[in-house]
Amino acid sequence: MKKRNLKRKLLLEIFEATGDGIRAVDKDFNIIIANSKMAEICGVPVEKQIGAKCFEVFPSDACGTDSCTLKRVLSGESIMYEEKLRKGRKGDIWTSHVATPLTNSEGKIVGMIESFRDITERKLIEQKLRESEKKYRILTEKSLTGIYIFQNGKFIFVNQKFCDIFGYKKEELLGMKFWKLIHPEYREVVKERGLKRERGEKVPEQYEMKIITKDGKVKWVEIRATQIIYEGKPAVLGNLIDITEEKEAERVLREYAEELEKTNELKDIFIDILRHDLINPISVIEGLSKLAFQEKSVKKLRRDLMIIARNAEKIRNLIENAALLGKLESKKELEFTQVNINDLIMEVINDFPQCEHKIKANIPKKEIIIEANPIIKEIFSNLISNAIKYSPENSTIEIGLEEKEISILIYVKDQGIGIPDKYKKDIFQRFTRLKKEGVKGSGLGLAIVKRLVELHNGRVWVEDNKPRGSIFYVELPKNQ
Ligand code: ADP
Repeated sequence: MKKRNLKRKLLLEIFEATGDGIRAVDKDFNIIIANSKMAEICGVPVEKQIGAKCFEVFPSDACGTDSCTLKRVLSGESIMYEEKLRKGRKGDIWTSHVATPLTNSEGKIVGMIESFRDITERKLIEQKLRESEKKYRILTEKSLTGIYIFQNGKFIFVNQKFCDIFGYKKEELLGMKFWKLIHPEYREVVKERGLKRERGEKVPEQYEMKIITKDGKVKWVEIRATQIIYEGKPAVLGNLIDITEEKEAERVLREYAEELEKTNELKDIFIDILRHDLINPISVIEGLSKLAFQEKSVKKLRRDLMIIARNAEKIRNLIENAALLGKLESKKELEFTQVNINDLIMEVINDFPQCEHKIKANIPKKEIIIEANPIIKEIFSNLISNAIKYSPENSTIEIGLEEKEISILIYVKDQGIGIPDKYKKDIFQRFTRLKKEGVKGSGLGLAIVKRLVELHNGRVWVEDNKPRGSIFYVELPKNQ
């Protein structure tokens, strides 16, 4: 008897000492026994629980339905689940609920034993975690900037926008070295900066660079990055925005500004022409025509008229050249067709009267066809006209054509005054004349030649002819 009492006492002590709320309920929903932890969990003192109906003391949504715990346990089920129960006025609490059948000495189910653990706090934390996870997902996944983290140079996190910018799937990017995405022009410097940043060294926080998307497109991005500690190790967290459109707009604007500048330059050319070059011949025409009225000698009159005509021609020449140069300067490219260069050069030569100079052509018989614009005639007529202007009468001018592998070379050789080395480059700038006095031309001829050659992706230069004179060379690609 004494022993039995001891055992009962011990069991009661364990029953009280356990951290879980425990109670027993009979078949008729009456609570038979409950420990003080149970009273704490459900908020009803033990004495008030004993004899009360379980659904009155600590009800749940399952009470009165087919999912009633007791009903299920009476049919032999053992139950373990997380359940929300109503704790009087204090509202709902979350419990981890275990219920097993209570049997009598014959093994017949006569009720159930239940244990409850208050897990409200854990549930709240879980809910908060879920909410913060949701916020984090919205923040990163819906973010308009690409977000990434790399560690040891390899991506360990990328958000959806980052994938969209680069055109890769998340799985393809994770584990990839970050510099693989960078355009070769920027790759080395970005790699070096990224690795330095990861090591915590000082590098610029923000910069622009070009990247290559999965399908090979080049895009401009702006990045901002910083070192972080991720899972105990240094890493780099960065965000990046696609600035391709802004860059494009910038380029268009720059081009527009350049065009404006060119237009201004052209305006300057015309003003220059008006101020310096037209004034002279106009003054000559004006002065001589006034004198002509009083001139008695027919011979002198004829000479004056000839000078007037020559000056008028000079004005026309000047205006035509200025208009041509203006047109060429504003052009970015020309249209090309198949041009028979042998015929074209011969046509130009034949346009010059063979009286005061001997013009010799050194053109191969084999026809050479190049891709060019027929306007290149201007190149050769300008060079031949200069050769005539700047070399003595009766001297020989030679025009030659040579075919090379991918280009053709044309030269115009004279025995004239020659060009000192220090001016060999400058003469291709407009209005550069070596001798201002007694100027014959417009000062625009070689500028036109240079622009035309540029538009044909070729080159032009001048060398000395031996023993005297100059050789102008023009090299043009056969195909554009
Ligand atoms: P322009 O002949 O109308 O002055 P160009 O632009 O054709 O203008 O030539 C610029 C300058 O280059 C000339 O004024 C002249 O001083 C020099 N030049 C051009 N061609 C020759 C040449 N064949 N021999 C010597 N000097 C030349």
